Amino acid sequence: MEASVSDPKKRRQHLPETATGVAGLTNCGAVTLIAVSVQTGKAVITASSSADGKFALKIGKRTSASLDSVVADYLLIATGSSKEGYSLAGQLGHSIVDTVPSLFTFKINDPDLTELSGVGPMLVTHWGLSGPVILRLSAWGARDLHSSGYKGTLIVDFTPDLHKEEVKAVLLNHKKKFVKQKMVNSSPPEFDLFKRCWKYLLNREGVAEDILWASVSSETLFSVASLLKDCSFEVTGKGQFKDEFVTAGGVPLSEISLNTMESKLKRNLFLAGEILNIDGVTGGFNFQVRDPSF
Ligand SMILES: Cc1cc2nc3c(=O)[nH]c(=O)nc-3n(C[C@H](O)[C@H](O)[C@H](O)COP(=O)(O)OP(=O)(O)OC[C@H]3O[C@@H](n4cnc5c(N)ncnc54)[C@H](O)[C@@H]3O)c2cc1C
Repeated sequence: MEASVSDPKKRRQHLPETATGVAGLTNCGAVTLIAVSVQTGKAVITASSSADGKFALKIGKRTSASLDSVVADYLLIATGSSKEGYSLAGQLGHSIVDTVPSLFTFKINDPDLTELSGVGPMLVTHWGLSGPVILRLSAWGARDLHSSGYKGTLIVDFTPDLHKEEVKAVLLNHKKKFVKQKMVNSSPPEFDLFKRCWKYLLNREGVAEDILWASVSSETLFSVASLLKDCSFEVTGKGQFKDEFVTAGGVPLSEISLNTMESKLKRNLFLAGEILNIDGVTGGFNFQVRDPSF
């Protein structure tokens, strides 16, 4: 991580390297940034503020019990979704909106499904479903999914641009045109489904592999149309712990001055990035939250 340490009220200066997301800045004047000491491989363990407005930090290696004391005039907490960071913000008087994972994949126990691997807005993986559509859903539903223990029924509409009646009409029309072809080998192009996905859906409906379009009953066509519009999957969990991209929750934005990222509760304390109660969908929006806030 590149921590941006600055005299927050005057200008910004990027330090070339640091392993700490918490930057204490001493003697911060217009030209005295050389007073910044960069310490790598260490974590800020505790933070408190004193009556004279300074910050007292305890810093040390996670593997060692010995801690150094640092006194800082300014403090920037930019610890991402680390528990320690939320704890530091709490020690300095901030509240924390409950944190839950966001942007994660869905675990689905369906061997036939997981055999399909395809790239698209919904990506089938060897453990379930991923891709932009699923990640977006996980972000919008982050709290509900967390409270349901990441279990539930996912309904997928494979033909979102067509109404159910239009899907039926497409199937009936295809049947008329491709009488002599096997249903499994010829899917209507209007659905834009890759071959294995079409086969998977027909299997789920119990359609015989060798049936010709000519022999398919209207009843079967209508049940295939229903499946295309409302295909349910039992979600049994989320992708592995820590596989999620981002954390929802954190320090409420109402406790921060959004012009300067300074805390409204403690002067000279700044908070930036994922520690704040803000998270976005994929596409760089989380980086966008982080970068301008530094
Ligand atoms: C696999 C993955 C893919 C992602 N893809 C995208 C994407 O495509 N688009 C997008 O917008 N976002 C994406 N994100 C999210 C994005 O990376 C984060 O939202 C963003 O990096 C948060 O920046 P930050 O500076 O707030 O925190 P971080 O980048 O997490 O930096 C926090 C730093 O603080 C340090 N730290 C923590 N606690 C302490 C402590 N007590 N003392 C000292 N230092 C400490 C940590 O070691 C770390 O270096 C992805 C995240 C992951 C994990």
